[in-house]
Amino acid sequence: MPKQQPETTAVTAGRDASGALSPTIWTSTTWQSSGLDDTSKAATSVHTTGNYARYSNPSVRDFERSVAELEGAEDALAFGSGMGAITSIILALCSTGDHIVAQSQLYGGTVAFLNGPCKRLGIEVTFVDGLQPGAFAAAVKPGKTMLVLAESPSNPQMGVVDFSELASIKGPYTVVDSTLATPLGQNPLAHGVSLVVHSATKGIAGHNDATLGVVAGEKDLIDALWAYAVLHGATASPYDAVNGLRGIRTLGVRLAHQCSSARELATFLASHKAISAVHYPGLPTHPQHALASKQMRQFGSLLSFDVVGGKDAARKVVDGLKLVRPAVSLGGPETLICHPASSTHVGVSPEDQATAGITQGLLRVSVGLESATDVIADFQQVLANL
Ligand SMILES: *Cc1c(COP(=O)(O)O)cnc(C)c1O
Repeated sequence: MPKQQPETTAVTAGRDASGALSPTIWTSTTWQSSGLDDTSKAATSVHTTGNYARYSNPSVRDFERSVAELEGAEDALAFGSGMGAITSIILALCSTGDHIVAQSQLYGGTVAFLNGPCKRLGIEVTFVDGLQPGAFAAAVKPGKTMLVLAESPSNPQMGVVDFSELASIKGPYTVVDSTLATPLGQNPLAHGVSLVVHSATKGIAGHNDATLGVVAGEKDLIDALWAYAVLHGATASPYDAVNGLRGIRTLGVRLAHQCSSARELATFLASHKAISAVHYPGLPTHPQHALASKQMRQFGSLLSFDVVGGKDAARKVVDGLKLVRPAVSLGGPETLICHPASSTHVGVSPEDQATAGITQGLLRVSVGLESATDVIADFQQVLANL
């Protein structure tokens, strides 16, 4: 048999022994033991079900096992949100006096956490342009740097980080936020990075009905994160976990459709005179298209573009679209548009917005499951009216 394709693994992974084809929601927060010795064993074992839900829940565990298999990881750990996962990684692995190297193009919430609570706790952070070769490695302080945090593709300019180069950094743990790609779009662990993290709220769950995060990597490291996570308490709900697993079952067809439509839309926008730039790693004109082609199986459902005329023009586009809806988030059935400068990155200082390439005319589109013909027609009518 040839090696199974990831789209097939999305259907086969994370099944329990019951034979039920759809995941079971385990609502119980606690499990009965068979006596003192059994209770003691459960209370001291790592990441095992059958004790108390904050320690592990069978529905959540099935979701974790499916993500681990898709990422080619030994294990995975789910959280109540993507931010729950990211902040738990940081707080589990960093102490006062430690140093973090972070990509300046990270998700707005992650940047706010690094500049706020991390600074307050005395964890030093150096931001680097992660798209420049060698930038991460150059900022590492040997013996002090505990974490190198990257996001690829990065939000909202779709910059691509070289995973092999990232993985060649020895000493600190290397972490990739792979939310925009999903586990079917790329597998950073295969290049040697330490951890891959997702906001499963986005493409993995894929229906705008679950708030969920997940991190995957080697078992020892996941166990260490688990030991912190049970104290932190950003625990994934079993309801969200089954929606996450439900999403994984159809991720193959959803992602293929969204990526194909995103490429069509990006090509259309790139040829329009009202648009000054389009950012999509699948376009041959993207500055890192060659790197993206090397390390991504698919280029993702998200793209952004700069409309000529700044914020006023951006407002006209958002207000004039009829099918495409103004909303944040990504990876769901509906095509969504947002203005990063006033939404996802509103908490980021104007200087940092400028370094991250977030202009007043920048609009971000999450391409959904509608026909690409209808989505493009909607943009065509609104751009004709500018
Ligand atoms: C949404 C998002 C997050 C945060 O995830 P939540 O589930 O909203 O907490 C982190 N990183 C990226 C790239 C995201 O898009």
